[in-house]
Amino acid sequence: MPETYVHKFDTPTFKGEISVPLGLYIDGKWVDGSSGNKIDVINPSNGKLITKITEGSPKDVDLAVAAAQKAFDTTWGLHKNGFERARLLQKLGDLMEQNADKLAALEALDNGKTFNWARTTDIDHSIRCIQYYAGWADKILGQTIETSEAKLVYVRHEPIGVVAQIIPWNFPLQMMAWKIGPALATGCSVILKPSEFTPLTALFVAQLIHEAGFPAGSFNLINGYGHVVGQVLAEHNGIEKIAFTGSTLVGRKIMEASSKSNLKKVTLELGGKSPSIVFDDADLEQAVKWAAFGIYYNHGQCCCAGSRIFVHEKIYDQFMQRFTEHTKSLKVGDPFDPEVYQGPQVSQQQYDRILSYIKSGKEEGATIVTGGEPLGQEGYYIQPTIFTDVKPSMKIVREEIFGPVCVVIKFKDDDDIVAMANDTIYGLAASVFSQNVTRALSTAHKIRAGTVWVNTANMLYPQVPFGGYKQSGIGRELGEYALANYTAVKAVQVNLHLNLS
Ligand code: NDP
Repeated sequence: MPETYVHKFDTPTFKGEISVPLGLYIDGKWVDGSSGNKIDVINPSNGKLITKITEGSPKDVDLAVAAAQKAFDTTWGLHKNGFERARLLQKLGDLMEQNADKLAALEALDNGKTFNWARTTDIDHSIRCIQYYAGWADKILGQTIETSEAKLVYVRHEPIGVVAQIIPWNFPLQMMAWKIGPALATGCSVILKPSEFTPLTALFVAQLIHEAGFPAGSFNLINGYGHVVGQVLAEHNGIEKIAFTGSTLVGRKIMEASSKSNLKKVTLELGGKSPSIVFDDADLEQAVKWAAFGIYYNHGQCCCAGSRIFVHEKIYDQFMQRFTEHTKSLKVGDPFDPEVYQGPQVSQQQYDRILSYIKSGKEEGATIVTGGEPLGQEGYYIQPTIFTDVKPSMKIVREEIFGPVCVVIKFKDDDDIVAMANDTIYGLAASVFSQNVTRALSTAHKIRAGTVWVNTANMLYPQVPFGGYKQSGIGRELGEYALANYTAVKAVQVNLHLNLS
C-alpha cells in the first residue's frame, strides 16, 4: 500500500495540514509501482526535498490501459449516460471548490507560483473548467442528415476510447483540468501523466475523483519520467488518442511514436514566442501593465508569454521608462508572502536554462536594461529581465526562454510590424495595444496565431478555444472545440424502403 505524505503549512497566506497520496492511481485504487522506484519532488523555493513519489513503469502503463479499456467497455463510455457523467464532473468541481485553498498551497509549494496567484487564477480557472465541461456532458449531440426519402441517416459523436494525457509543470492543475474535463465529459477513459516536477495537485485531485465516485478505471494517474512512461504511452497500441502539452521537441517525438505504432490521434499544445505590439495610439499606462503581465505572469513560464514586445518609435522612450520602472517594482521572493509577485522558477533545469539564455543575450551583444541576474542564496529565483538592442537572429529573439525575460524592439509602420511579429516558427498568441479599433482588429487578423488579445494579455477562459498555428501545436483545447478531440464521428445509414431489384 503506497504511503501518504503530510505537509504542515504555517505561512502568512495558508496554515494547515494537507495529505497527498504518493502512489499510482490505477483501476480505482492507490497502488505501488511495479519497479519500486521513487522520484524526488523538490521545493523550488529552496532546492530541498519535499517528498518522493512512486515512479511508474511500462508494466504499470499496461495495467492502466487494461483498466481503462475495461471501464470503457463496462461502466464508462457509452455505458454511463451524459447526465450521470455531468453529475460526476459537477461533484468533482464542488470538491475542488471545497479544497481550493489547499490546492493553491500545494501548487505554491511544488511549482513556486505564489499562493495568491495560484488561488485566484490556476485553481479558480481549473474549477470553472471542470464545471464548464460538466455542462457539456449531456449535450454531446450528433446530427440527422437528409439524403433521400427512403433512408434515415444520423451521426453519432461517440467517445473515442482510452486516451493518454501528458501535462507539464507550468500550470499543473490547470493543464489537468483542460485535459480531463472534455475527456471525461465525452466518456473517454483517461490515463494522466503529470510532470514529475509538479505532481502534488494532480495526486490530490485524483483523491477527489475517487471521492466523487467515478467508476474504477475511468481515470488513472501514473507519475513517471517522460522518456519512459510518456514514451510508452505515446507508443501504446491500446491507446486511441494522446494529448500533450510541453516542448515542441517532445511534441515531435509523440507524433513520431504515434505514426510508428497505431496512428493514435494526436493533439499538441507546444511552445510560443508571442509578440506584444504597442501602437503609438495605445493607452500607455495600460499597455505597460498588460505587456508586463504578458511576460512576467507565472514567472514567464507560459506557453503564450508575450516575450517579444514591439513598441512604436513615437512612444518607445516613454514606454521604456514606465515599463522598466514597473519591472523593477515587481517583488520576487517567497511564494507564500502576500506582497510577492514572482516566486522561483520551477526547477534547477529551468533556472539553468533561463540563465543560459540571458548569458547568450549578453554574448550576442544585446543590452540589459534591468535584471539579468539570479537572486538569493537558495532556490531558483531570477530577476525579471528586459533586453533591448536585439537583432532578429539572436537566440533570445527566436527561441522560447520560458522565464521572466523579454526583448523590447522598436518599430516604425503598421506593415513592418505584422511581418516582424509573424517572423517566428511559432503561432500561439499575440497582444495588440491600440485605441483605434480598425487598426487593432486589422492587425489582429493579420497575425498568424491561435489567440490574439486586444488591449489585454494572457486571459484564458474555459469556453474560449486555445491552441497554436504553425509549430505551436495541433488542435484546440477548451471550449466546444475540445470535445471534437475526444469523440469519433459515426454515420449510421438506415434503409427504410430502398429495395434492390
Ligand atoms: P518537456 O516537453 O520535455 O516536458 C513536458 C512533459 O512531457 C513532461 O511530463 C515530460 O516528462 C514529458 N515527456 C518528456 N519526454 C517525453 C517523451 N519522449 N514522450 C512523452 N512524454 C515526454 O518540457 P520540459 O519540462 O523539459 O521543458 C522544456 C521546455 O519546454 C521549456 O523551457 C518550454 O520552452 C517548453 N514547455 C512548454 C510548455 C507549454 O505549456 N507549451 C510547458 C512546459 C515546457 P519529463 O518531465 O519526465 O521529461
